[in-house]
Amino acid sequence: MKQFICIMCPKGCHLSVDEQNDYAVTGYSCAKGIKYGKAEATNPVRVVTSTVVVEGGQRNRVPVKTADGIPKTEVIDAMKVINQVHLKSPVHIGDVVVKDLLGTGIDVVATANM
Ligand code: SF4
Repeated sequence: MKQFICIMCPKGCHLSVDEQNDYAVTGYSCAKGIKYGKAEATNPVRVVTSTVVVEGGQRNRVPVKTADGIPKTEVIDAMKVINQVHLKSPVHIGDVVVKDLLGTGIDVVATANM
């Protein structure tokens, strides 16, 4: 049995996931908890947020994030890639900063104009 705290809303339900019983989830207060609990037990993913260097903007760095969750096990390597990115202004919200991050099929995109 694996234990998780659901992070899909501030209520923070304490979930139990039974790997021996088709990943049955208990402890949830809504359906989001079922989906979150199964995903955490089978293939946990995280949206990565960070900043990258930008030249010629009002500030030295621009915020970025992965367009969707990437496998939790790839987060450290993802940060190594993101930390090597250097952009030149102008940068627009939604611009792809890294295409297909680590072969995940997920892009890193800018989340601000600069
Ligand atoms: S199970 Fe539903 S109510 Fe409970 S923390 Fe998750 S999203 Fe919120």
